[in-house]
Amino acid sequence: MKYLDEYRDPALARRLLGELRRTATRPWRIMEVCGGQTHTLVRQGIDELLPAGIRMIHGPGCPVCVTPLEILDRAMVIAARPGVTLTSFGDMLRVPGTETDLLSLRARGADVRIVYTPMDAVRLAAGHPDREVVLLAVGFETTAPANAMAVLHAARLELANFSVLVSHVLVPPAMTALLNDPGCEVQAFLAAGHVCAVMGWAEYEPIAARYRVPIVVTGFEPLDLLEGILMTVRQLEHGRHEVENQYVRAVRRSGNTDAQDAVRTVFRVTDRAWRGIGTLPGSGLELTEPYTRFDAARRFAAGAPSPAEDPECIAGAVLTGARLPTDCPAYGTRCTPRRPLGAPMVSAEGTCAAFHAAGRTKDMPKGVLQP
Ligand code: SF4
Repeated sequence: MKYLDEYRDPALARRLLGELRRTATRPWRIMEVCGGQTHTLVRQGIDELLPAGIRMIHGPGCPVCVTPLEILDRAMVIAARPGVTLTSFGDMLRVPGTETDLLSLRARGADVRIVYTPMDAVRLAAGHPDREVVLLAVGFETTAPANAMAVLHAARLELANFSVLVSHVLVPPAMTALLNDPGCEVQAFLAAGHVCAVMGWAEYEPIAARYRVPIVVTGFEPLDLLEGILMTVRQLEHGRHEVENQYVRAVRRSGNTDAQDAVRTVFRVTDRAWRGIGTLPGSGLELTEPYTRFDAARRFAAGAPSPAEDPECIAGAVLTGARLPTDCPAYGTRCTPRRPLGAPMVSAEGTCAAFHAAGRTKDMPKGVLQP
């Protein structure tokens, strides 16, 4: 009761849950790809309210969590150089690298600044021609258009002191990689509404057809998620495997074509390493000509320490949904949001942080909350 009464429309939430109970006749395993959806599911107790047998598997859609250690270590080497201002979204500052994190580096005197849009970094470069301003450009298809626009704007201003350290990743290749794993238990996906607001959903149709998995584009409110899960279970129960759109108020099939054009102008698809998962073919973006002159990785070719994860951290297994944060021996003891050992305990979209914020413990049984 506690959770449902906090929903925007508790009566609708109860109706959706009742419909789910009437619809589900068998166990089903559904992955929500996006970390924002994971946080809503866990914070609102949705995964605990679902009919017995319906299990939510938390996916790799936390951009901070999947940014490879090599990029983070390289960002720190660049930030430590005299004359450099490294800019980043706030989440990245506390993510542990091999030896330290950006926040600690800043405490030791490095010029590391939080920006709220990539254009802030461009403005900083334009206003400080004596400094090299580097933007740490991470994230999924959602952040790529704004980073592309920043590069286009820097090119228009002919800025010679602005560059980007790119680590963009793409959702569909990650879904394909998960489905190709013989141990994959995922039977259906909730696709991330904001990614699809940019990219549309046409690129998910071949995945649904080839792997015979329902994919439902879903929003981020609790009611969105309940409805997305219900739509997914209906498909599973009827043996359908289509792409459907729950998030009709924000997403259309073609997505935002202006944003896609900006991304295609500045970036091209490349293989990309995902932290804890490894390199996935065609799963990332890199700068294309003539914008490679803004590539911080080329401009600052300095070496970084050999990347080494904390041996206790099982982030890779958490990010692929193979394990829960509560399976990690360090969860809540040696790894907490104040002293994180791995990226999923840092980010606002990390699964470990979501579990910790919701007070999940190792011995919490499924199904303890009932409407
Ligand atoms: S609880 Fe901490 S150490 Fe364990 S998987 Fe999550 S981030 Fe890694």
